[in-house]
Amino acid sequence: MKRIAIDMDEVMADFVTKHLYLYNSDFNESLTKKDLLGKKLRHLRPGREKELMEYIDEPDFFRDLEVMEGSQEVIRELSEHYEIFITTAAMEHPASFTAKYEWLNEHFPFLSDMNIVFCGDKSIIHADYLIDDNARHFRRFTGQGILFTSPHNVNETDYVRVNNWKEVREFFLK
Ligand SMILES: [Mg+2]
Repeated sequence: MKRIAIDMDEVMADFVTKHLYLYNSDFNESLTKKDLLGKKLRHLRPGREKELMEYIDEPDFFRDLEVMEGSQEVIRELSEHYEIFITTAAMEHPASFTAKYEWLNEHFPFLSDMNIVFCGDKSIIHADYLIDDNARHFRRFTGQGILFTSPHNVNETDYVRVNNWKEVREFFLK
């Protein structure tokens, strides 16, 4: 069986909507995902980097993120044909471990704990494919990177792109 590694934030879990909502509420702004095309919120508002980080360092931030549409059905289906590993760069936010683990158990109960990998540098991951919204993880990855569209990466052209889980399904199960 070939092996697919899958990132969590902005691939399985809708990170940006909650992050934007918290920022807009606290700073009385009305930024939308359109404002984030080609950049991350911390690049759009560099003076607020500290506050933007603090949201993510809250232990519960990741616990109630919305599930990306179609991800549950497609990952379940993929798991019948591929070995699936969830690979999240959780070391960047160690306070997130418990919330991320509980979130996976709640929304993806069919995945074994043995297939969840909290990592730092993803180049250690030995898989045939990595589905991720951050192209930086592909540079030293030995398999094929599949870029999952997120507002910040719309201008990235170096990798195969999937815009949603329907397209992931078409790529792997055609
Ligand atoms: Mg991500």
